[in-house]
Amino acid sequence: MTSHIVGYPRMGPKREVKFSLESFWDKRTNADELQKVAKDLRVSIWKQMSGAGIKYIPSNTFSYYDQVLDTTAMLGAVPPRYGWTGGEIGFDVYFSMARGNDTLPAMEMTKWFDTNYHYIVPELSPDMKFTYASHKAVCEYKEAKELGIETVPVLVGPVSYLLLSKPAKGVEKSFSLLSEAYEQLEDALSGMNALVETYFSDLPADAYKAIVSLKGVSAVGLDLVRGEKTLELVKSLGFPSDKFLFAGVVDGRNIWANDLEASLKTLKTLEGIVGKEKLAVSTSCSLLHTAVDLVNETKLDMEIKSWLAFSAQKILEVNALAKALTGEKNETYFFTNAAALASRKSSPRVNDEAVQKAASALRGSDRRRTTPVTSRLDAQQKKLNLPVLPTTTIGSFPQTVDLRREDYVKDIKEEINKVVKLQEELDIDVLVHGEPERNDMVEYFGEQLKGFAFTVNGWVQSYGSRCVKPPIIYGDVSRAKAMTVFWSTTAQSMTSRPMKGMLTGPVTILNWSFVRNDQPRFETCYQIALAMKDEVEDLEAAGIQVIQIDEAALREGLPLRKSEQAFYLDWAVHSFRITNCGVKDTTQIHTHMCYSHFNDIIHSIIDMDADVITIENSRSDEKLLSVFREGVKYGAGIGPGVYDIHSPRIPTTEEIADRINKMLAVLEKNVLWVNPDCGLKTRKYAEVKPALTNMVAAAKLLRTQL
Ligand code: GLN
Ligand code: ZN
Repeated sequence: MTSHIVGYPRMGPKREVKFSLESFWDKRTNADELQKVAKDLRVSIWKQMSGAGIKYIPSNTFSYYDQVLDTTAMLGAVPPRYGWTGGEIGFDVYFSMARGNDTLPAMEMTKWFDTNYHYIVPELSPDMKFTYASHKAVCEYKEAKELGIETVPVLVGPVSYLLLSKPAKGVEKSFSLLSEAYEQLEDALSGMNALVETYFSDLPADAYKAIVSLKGVSAVGLDLVRGEKTLELVKSLGFPSDKFLFAGVVDGRNIWANDLEASLKTLKTLEGIVGKEKLAVSTSCSLLHTAVDLVNETKLDMEIKSWLAFSAQKILEVNALAKALTGEKNETYFFTNAAALASRKSSPRVNDEAVQKAASALRGSDRRRTTPVTSRLDAQQKKLNLPVLPTTTIGSFPQTVDLRREDYVKDIKEEINKVVKLQEELDIDVLVHGEPERNDMVEYFGEQLKGFAFTVNGWVQSYGSRCVKPPIIYGDVSRAKAMTVFWSTTAQSMTSRPMKGMLTGPVTILNWSFVRNDQPRFETCYQIALAMKDEVEDLEAAGIQVIQIDEAALREGLPLRKSEQAFYLDWAVHSFRITNCGVKDTTQIHTHMCYSHFNDIIHSIIDMDADVITIENSRSDEKLLSVFREGVKYGAGIGPGVYDIHSPRIPTTEEIADRINKMLAVLEKNVLWVNPDCGLKTRKYAEVKPALTNMVAAAKLLRTQL
């Protein structure tokens, strides 16, 4: 019985590599210093795993940016525009592909399956000549070997690399590709042990059969956490006697302590099928997607801490499970684990019966506003009296207040007043307060809701040096008191124009948090929805007439498997409707989404039944508008962003007017709103003021022509 780890976080326990990378990019430090920080981290991880007793320790799971880009470098698959002419690929070419340079934009980046990690999309073409142009994998292997540590180099498999690349998107002949690829590799693999690792799901039966019978492969890794049917699959289809099974029982996607007794039971079942000699205990996937080390969480409540396991703790879990199977069960360790699990199950901080009851009552129901959207819009217009092509912004304005200041409330009030006055000067129709009181659109609400905990160092890599620190939802969620009413009413009192209440929607809060694994996701989402419903109704009662509920991450939660998507969309969209099903017809509900590729989920978006939806659009006008050109019936208000807020460039009045005109060609003039793509938080006032001036001018120009 042996143990294995699929991969490990690579930013360091305190994001050392992030800071080192950024300092190198800013030319404050040189390449040697960056390489030293990176090497120190790799060495400490190898020593940590080896010290814990892990048998199969991974190497080449470190990356200066992304493992798919590393593969592109290894294969010399550099797009010609980056000017690489051969030889070992260095930081220059590598970081140009990752981040662009003075003259070239970066390569495209996209989400790694259903995680929040983003990889650099390979650009392959028929005339691409592959050459072996980066020896990183071998170097890392040797580096560990010098420490006396034997490692398993991890590579992105050839079929995955191809299918994740640009021209191959949507290719559907992967199974035959698999056997073809491994037939080609058979010679190269002979004399060594090749492990094919699968994760994030159970395999469809035909894929399972194809993978376990690959030639030249001696071991197959299976995800037994996300892959809820994996065990059944192995039971019913069997497993080849000449291969090893790497059983991913420790969750690489979450922060919860493993249920060791349950995992042990699963492992024993597998042992009965494949035999003692042929089973290895592993993580369900790379630990890249979870936090690094619980040891650094000094502010976390001790009881909650006992329920958690970050990467460093997961290594110990894997090892303890492997040991237990060989008869060396650490009784104290298992006992402590069982006690923590029991305390989590029965803790009054987790369980709130009233919340559970209210949330389960929603299952199978269909909450929605009773009046159809067109009549609601009429009722709202009577009160709001907005011009055609009304202008608005998405919520945040440039952040200038230091939130740690003493005079916090006074400073924020002043900041809101500044933002309100600016919008009045610009003659924007529906105002926002600018969100200066918020650190982050999820954290701000999580901090005020019951059932959430926060870490100090629980960072997870999102892309490159960028990390996110998701809140931990550990218990039933409820709202202790109003969260935004004070700020929204304060802002409304400063103007006679409508001021938007600004909330984050339940699906986005869910998708950007570490969620409970002791109840289905929809249950947690319904609980958050009910808490947000209270907030919506309090805002309405306080006189706020327009409320925006951001669902920036609705699409992110879409399951990988097509057959599971409808169910997700159903409860996600229902959760959104629950937040506002109780408001009056005259209260206008907005929502906002940070992406435009929703052609495939357009009917779910319509089913959200918001009065107005503002969406990112700047980089793909055509795609979004084509949905409506194809005749999708859309009666609600819609504001496709008229300029890209991700760029410092200031759009001209003419170009904005031009884009609005394009929209008017497919959408009714009385449903169209004029707004930027997203919040303005990351921009400077020197960019925001002229850009919004031109936006309002474009709207006014077109009003005279309608
Ligand atoms: N209201 C938020 C803002 O403007 C929305 C951010 C987002 O969509 N990511 O900052
Ligand atoms: Zn956005």
